[in-house]
Formats: sequence, C-alpha cells, structure tokens
Amino acid sequence: MSATTQSPIIPIKSSSEPPHVIAPDAATIFSRRAARFDQLAEGHSLGDWLRFLGAISRAQHTALQALPELDLPGAAQMALAREHRMPPLPAQSWPRPAVWRDVLRDIAAAIEGTAAEVARKDLARLKALDADALEALAERVLHTELYGEDAALLPYVAAALQVLWTGAASRLGISEIAALDVPGVCPCCGFLPVASVIRTVGEVSNLRYLHCALCNTEWNLVRLKCSACDVTDGVSYRALQDGQGKESEAIRAETCESCKSYLKIAYAEKAAVDPVADDLATLALDILVDEAGYARSGPNLLLVPGG
Ligand SMILES: [Zn+2]
Ligand SMILES: [Zn+2]
Repeated sequence: MSATTQSPIIPIKSSSEPPHVIAPDAATIFSRRAARFDQLAEGHSLGDWLRFLGAISRAQHTALQALPELDLPGAAQMALAREHRMPPLPAQSWPRPAVWRDVLRDIAAAIEGTAAEVARKDLARLKALDADALEALAERVLHTELYGEDAALLPYVAAALQVLWTGAASRLGISEIAALDVPGVCPCCGFLPVASVIRTVGEVSNLRYLHCALCNTEWNLVRLKCSACDVTDGVSYRALQDGQGKESEAIRAETCESCKSYLKIAYAEKAAVDPVADDLATLALDILVDEAGYARSGPNLLLVPGG
C-alpha cells in the first residue's frame, strides 16, 4: 500500500510502528455496525432482536451525522490530561453537553416504528421522563450500574451517550491522546472495552486493539495478555462450534486463570466483524464461559443484563 492511499484517520508513523490509538470514524462506525447486525440476524434464533439493534445503530449513524459542534477540551486541558495520563473525555466526569438528550429523542423516534410491543412501551416511558430523570439514567450507564429499576431503558440511554462520546472522540484529534498507565481502560474516555479486535493496520497484521464500549476508540494491547489484570500466564481461548463441530473463526472468548475474567476477541481478518454486533450475536459463548466460572470484564451497553 502506498502512503497516498492510507486512511487519513490512522497516522502511521512508520510501516513497522502501528498507531497506539485509533479514533472512531464518525462517517462509518454505526452504519457498518447496522449492516453487520442485519447480516448476523439472518437465520439467527435471536434474529428479530439483532435486526432491532441494527435499527438502533442506523439511528445512531443518522444522529451522529447531525451532531452539532461540541465544547471540547482546549489545548491546555489536553496537555494537562496528557501530563497526568488521564483520559481527556472521562465518562464519569466530563461535563456532557445536554444535546445527548436530543439525540436520545431522535433515536427513539427513529426506531419506534420497528420496535416490538415491549420495546415500544419502554420508549413511551422514556419519552415521559424529565431532564433530571434522564440524567440520572445517564449516570447509571456511565458508572456501569446496568441493573435495577428501569434497567430496560438503559440501552437506549447508552445508545445516545455512545453517539455523543463517539462524536467527541472523533473530533478530538487522535495524536492528542496519550497511552494510559492502565492498559485495560480507554485512553480517550476511561471506560471499559466491549471486546478486542484482531486487525491489520497499514502493513502490520495480527494487531490486537481493545474497542471502547462507550466512545468506540480503539487502543493497542499486545496479544496473549489479559486486558483486565495484565498477566500473560493462564490466558486461553474458547469458541462456539457449529453443527459439524467446527470452531468459529470470527469470535472467541479470551479467559484468564489469574482474575477469572473473560472478554471476547473478534477476528477482523477472518470476517467483516463488528465488536459490538458480533458480541451480541454470540451470547451462547457468554453462557459457555460463564458456566465455566469466568466473569465478563467489560460491558456491552446495548444489552440489558438478564433481560
Ligand atoms: Zn472510550
Ligand atoms: Zn486477568
């Protein structure tokens, strides 16, 4: 690949040095996810649900293209964040602009028509909430308290917050984000990864990137290492098998004997994977590793746990 055909969003320092951080591409991140949900829904036992999630992703794409200008950290704040190795858009403390509530309203309006009965009732309840109640739900998402009363409303709130944070992350300027001392959290917003992706960047293949569950930023982590506790010993992989006993090549679970956690790995070199969509299309794999005694280390915000 010549230098002129390389993607402008990936600043490649040299052909042998892959970028530490990859910012989300606002033009494609949610539309590609929507297409992947539709593809995975074909012949799937949870097809209707996956198609609905595709509709949510498509609504996220539309909302992101229309997202107005945001009040982002200035040069001094960015320098301070870099110096202290802190994420510049911290999920739990960035003063989020109120526009995310408009995004939520637009997403809800866009998916209402395709929603099943139960989801339509949830959307109606959401519509009736005032600003304070919505902000309280946002706090629960951003502190990963994804349970309790009204938990069924949280995926919609999360979808709107994903649009806000993804828009902010994509506009921030990727070279401004430093690697953090904690490898398991997003260097842009400090949130947890939904999964990791094995991909080719530039001329380097087999690179592993953790994918942020909130802002869709990706950051590099060496392979064969637990993203939750940083150990390299006792990391192993489990996969689902098809009817012929053949293991899935698109997604596996990376389990760690040290902290007994797991996170899935999607193989972009094997299929057109999306870390969020492929994760939700393989809930059977979660059940498998859960029964083997491992706890998931990062959330998928479109899922209601136990829902
Ligand atoms: Zn993030
Ligand atoms: Zn571990």
